[in-house]
Amino acid sequence: MSGGQVSVDIECVVVGAGVVGLAVTRALARSGREVILIEAGEGIGVGISSRNSEVIHAGIYYPSGSLKAQLCVEGKHRLYAFCDERGVDYQRLGKLIVATDDSQCAALQRLLEQGRRNGVDDLQWLDAGQARSLEPALSCVAALWSPSTGIVDSHALMLALQADVEASGTSIALHTPLVSARCTEQGFELHMGGAQPMTLTCRELINCAGLSAPEVASRIEGLPTQYVPEARLCKGSYFSFSGRAPFRHLVYPAPESAGLGVHMTLDLGGQARFGPDVEWVDHVDYRVDPRRVDGFYQAIRRYWPTLADNSLQPAYSGIRPKISGPTEPAADFLISGPVEHGVPGLVNLFGIESPGLTSCLALADRVVQRLTPHSL
Ligand SMILES: Cc1cc2nc3c(=O)[nH]c(=O)nc-3n(C[C@H](O)[C@H](O)[C@H](O)COP(=O)(O)OP(=O)(O)OC[C@H]3O[C@@H](n4cnc5c(N)ncnc54)[C@H](O)[C@@H]3O)c2cc1C
Repeated sequence: MSGGQVSVDIECVVVGAGVVGLAVTRALARSGREVILIEAGEGIGVGISSRNSEVIHAGIYYPSGSLKAQLCVEGKHRLYAFCDERGVDYQRLGKLIVATDDSQCAALQRLLEQGRRNGVDDLQWLDAGQARSLEPALSCVAALWSPSTGIVDSHALMLALQADVEASGTSIALHTPLVSARCTEQGFELHMGGAQPMTLTCRELINCAGLSAPEVASRIEGLPTQYVPEARLCKGSYFSFSGRAPFRHLVYPAPESAGLGVHMTLDLGGQARFGPDVEWVDHVDYRVDPRRVDGFYQAIRRYWPTLADNSLQPAYSGIRPKISGPTEPAADFLISGPVEHGVPGLVNLFGIESPGLTSCLALADRVVQRLTPHSL
């Protein structure tokens, strides 16, 4: 004890108990490390891990060789296997990506080729008749069919990861925000706020703070600022559909610039919701502006013309933790480890937007690889 504060020495600290921090902590504990997971909020999964589409993505959209492409394809297989093993609820529903006029067919063809280059080997091109035989209410001129896309109960997934973490003897400290950190000869000295301010020393530090990852990294004294990207916030709102779901599979339009387009996903109870749209914002505010509904009717009626007036209600929103701006090409996941920034034992995860949920188990293994054998 020093100055009334609890002081603890431990091998490894993970910051942030979203799906990524939980998966990383589990992987580090399984590698034999002594780990503590600290979380600012009152529970696990209070960040964007609870504010997404809960889709297990196939890995179609991302540039060849990117981390998003590799980790999504690998993560999808790992996630389905994990869900089977641990009884986490999921449905491999399949998804249709639709071209609503001839001008979108070339983009759809490029997606098909991109998906195949990424190792998504089960994609099929459907003409309008074939697509409508799967989804009679759909209006399109062609579609891509992705049978390996699914949905998952993200909360059950996080609870299963938490159970593994706790079974390994690892503690999760809630209400424990990282306030400041300093690189030392031996590793790091961390200062935590909350009801019981605490000081931790550790050899390894993994920053999985989601939207706050750049801010957390900027508080690490000794990490040069050029290794901390600017946080860009890109909100996505969802509206729920009150009636019986119009489709049995997930339906996505041809993709937009910063998101995948206002798509229809189903929850595990079969209820339809539409979203997320794209809104660049400068602060975190999860309220859904009901006025955005006009854009939803317009976007959805391109592929579902019979959507009735007044059938959509504001539901929830998420914010994409981007590290590239609206006019820049979409950035890849950034796993910034000792090789990149030169600080032994430190890994920052930046820009873990979609498909981060799908990729969490594969991403976690990459983090362990960056630290093994025990940093630079
Ligand atoms: C609108 C939207 C839709 C998406 N849809 C999908 C999808 O369908 N499929 C898919 O694969 N991915 C999807 N994603 C991406 C996916 O949700 C994220 O990649 C994933 O949830 C990121 O998890 P995380 O653990 O990195 O972040 P988070 O879940 O945000 O966790 C970060 C945690 O860090 C904590 N924290 C922050 N600061 C501190 C601090 N100083 N000290 C301690 N703790 C701190 C926070 O409280 C939080 O709990 C979507 C994302 C969005 C925004």
